[in-house]
Amino acid sequence: MKHSANTFDQELAERLKAIREQGLLRTLRRVDSPQGRHISIDGQRLLNFSSNDYLGLANESALKEAAKEAVECFGAGSGASRLVCGSLAPHHQLEQAFAEFKGTEAALSFSSGYAAAIGTIGALLDKEDLIVTDQLVHASIVDAARLCRARLRVFAHNDLNELDDILKKEGKRSVDSSATRSTRDRARTLIVTESVFSMDGDFAALPEIVELKEKYGAWLMLDEAHATGLFGQHRRGLAEAFELGDRIEIQMATLGKALGAAGGCICGSRPLIDLLINRARSFIFSTAPTPAAAAAATAGVRFVQSEAGEARRAQLWARVDQIKNGLTGGPWKTPVIRSPIIPLLVGDEGEAMESAARLRSCGVFIPAIRYPSVARGAARLRLTVTSGHSADEVQTLLQALAQCRT
Ligand SMILES: *Cc1c(COP(=O)(O)O)cnc(C)c1O
Repeated sequence: MKHSANTFDQELAERLKAIREQGLLRTLRRVDSPQGRHISIDGQRLLNFSSNDYLGLANESALKEAAKEAVECFGAGSGASRLVCGSLAPHHQLEQAFAEFKGTEAALSFSSGYAAAIGTIGALLDKEDLIVTDQLVHASIVDAARLCRARLRVFAHNDLNELDDILKKEGKRSVDSSATRSTRDRARTLIVTESVFSMDGDFAALPEIVELKEKYGAWLMLDEAHATGLFGQHRRGLAEAFELGDRIEIQMATLGKALGAAGGCICGSRPLIDLLINRARSFIFSTAPTPAAAAAATAGVRFVQSEAGEARRAQLWARVDQIKNGLTGGPWKTPVIRSPIIPLLVGDEGEAMESAARLRSCGVFIPAIRYPSVARGAARLRLTVTSGHSADEVQTLLQALAQCRT
């Protein structure tokens, strides 16, 4: 046993060495403060420009109070999976609030956005089907696509011609093979995209994608992880901003970003939600989220819908504009800025790491994002801004950025 454990550790040590040699080794940084504009990382207090807590709700009193009350009334743990005896009132309240928020018939919460993607795609597709994704979709969707065993086709980021081509060719193919099918007369096709892309902060071409999916009779799943709470008249997301909510079969949100809590949520028709309750394995075979997480998320949804939510959003856009203006003409390369996610493109992994270290020495925390979160050679600093940052703090950021680009 001793011997085999040693060879086990030896092998893993070699693999870690290879990761380190590629400049890709990752380690955890201990944070000893709540989520906020300032964080204390490994004992150093830094201005935080790395969080997805866009509206500052993770440490908001309404959410904390809701979580405390849920602990008092429903305990610390949920005790079982939803289908056994863990489907507590706070989960039902969250799902009702979420369906109302998104304007859909129903909603279902998951313990994470990752679990929501895996469970939903797995419930909808099988090996006879086709899944078509944007090249830049989140790892949860990539993993879901692999797990569900459907054929996977990927189109270049926002390349509508390629998407059209794929749908055209694959549509023919499924008609040709329909004679061999016993249970269904045609394969299902699911298109999956993010609305605001997590590492680039740009938008999917939603109106065109919706047109295409209708033209070819495909379904669309839209991951609004970074748009929920930020876009649209009622801050429902990009689908609302484009007035396309009722033409999208599956809307996904995460509860741990602008909503300030934790978890994932799928919104859509009653049959969609009922099917997920019966078939989504990450929902069925997993202990229900804690009452505190569900209650905090409900409070987050309510906050986002309130006037205070709109005020936070207005503050956030003011900061985004300040950064946009401040970076114009400077040494950092950014794509068109359309969201609070602002990638400062570097390319080389080592160089991105050095820039991040220099910024830390100026008191500013912006992490370097490397493979496998983005493609090799596409390393960047992923700058995110929140409504909580003051104009002065953004000024400090801009000065540090001006100093730190070699
Ligand atoms: C964060 C994220 C997820 C996963 O959500 P978690 O709740 O963090 O598991 C899924 N999709 C996108 C685009 C994300 O950014």
